Amino acid sequence: MKTRDRLRIAMQKSGRLTEPALELLKRCGLTFRQSRDKLFCFGEGEPVDLLLVRDDDIPGLIAQGVCDLGIVGRNVLDEFALTAGRDVAPLAEWRALGFGRCRLSIAVPQEMDYRAPSDLAGLRIATSYPGLLGAWLRGQGVGAGVVTLAGSVEIAPRLGTADLICDLVQSGGTLAANQLRETEVLLESEAVLAGPQTLPADERGDMIELLFRRLDGVIQVRESRLLLLQTSRGALDAVVRLLPGGPQPTLLPVAGQPDQLMLQALCAGEVSWRQLEEIKKAGAREMFVLPVEKMLA
Ligand code: ATP
Ligand code: MG
Repeated sequence: MKTRDRLRIAMQKSGRLTEPALELLKRCGLTFRQSRDKLFCFGEGEPVDLLLVRDDDIPGLIAQGVCDLGIVGRNVLDEFALTAGRDVAPLAEWRALGFGRCRLSIAVPQEMDYRAPSDLAGLRIATSYPGLLGAWLRGQGVGAGVVTLAGSVEIAPRLGTADLICDLVQSGGTLAANQLRETEVLLESEAVLAGPQTLPADERGDMIELLFRRLDGVIQVRESRLLLLQTSRGALDAVVRLLPGGPQPTLLPVAGQPDQLMLQALCAGEVSWRQLEEIKKAGAREMFVLPVEKMLA
């Protein structure tokens, strides 16, 4: 195949992953100009273009080498791995992106008496994920019928085309609206950056490295908070013990107050009011929690 000197990333044209994926790429410093047919986005600064497609097509486009990387739900990527056939190059999940979170679950009619996977023996399960469901059933040693549907899986039990379903769940609202109850989680999913197991070794490889570095920074920063506070030297140990996870804090002297220290700590996640109140009780004051804009370790 003809090699390309620009990186091409496949992503969902219109759906749940579109906005957050574009936002993430923007935060990595990538901006795009959309073609008139809205199928292609030309990268303006860096040599990175986007191909906008249905999410189901993304793993295939990477496997065929049409795109170098893709942003797609783990559910779609793992289903592809199980159903694509042996002659298709295996793909890798290079980064988890932290949005589009959902789970692939078994849900049964509310009135069904479900206790364990063995209760599913002989029943018909409607799903758009026959590969993942089939693998799970085999793992559980349960023989059940798999009814593959492209969409509207949640109404299959009411239509009588299946006894229960295996579908994506986020809040559980759709299940409740259809009198279904979630019983088993088969897969925890989120959007991932997928690519071939062996990345290209040409200029595109360099661009991928750069993208990975920026993504790691953006993902880490998104969850990070900078905590600033003042404490007396006497209370320092007690305060440090209460700091939410992260690297060692930095300590700075406070001018004119030899007993006081200014403490700066990078926290890996949210810092709650309750945590702040505990730290204050231990002797801290003048506390600030700041979002982190950019980080380059
Ligand atoms: P397309 O037209 O691209 O095929 P789609 O209808 O298959 O779109 P969406 O409903 O936009 O796809 O979902 C895209 C991805 O969002 C899913 O594959 C999944 O990874 C994730 N997702 C998060 N929450 C949910 C949810 N409640 N239901 C379905 N998908 C969800
Ligand atoms: Mg789809």
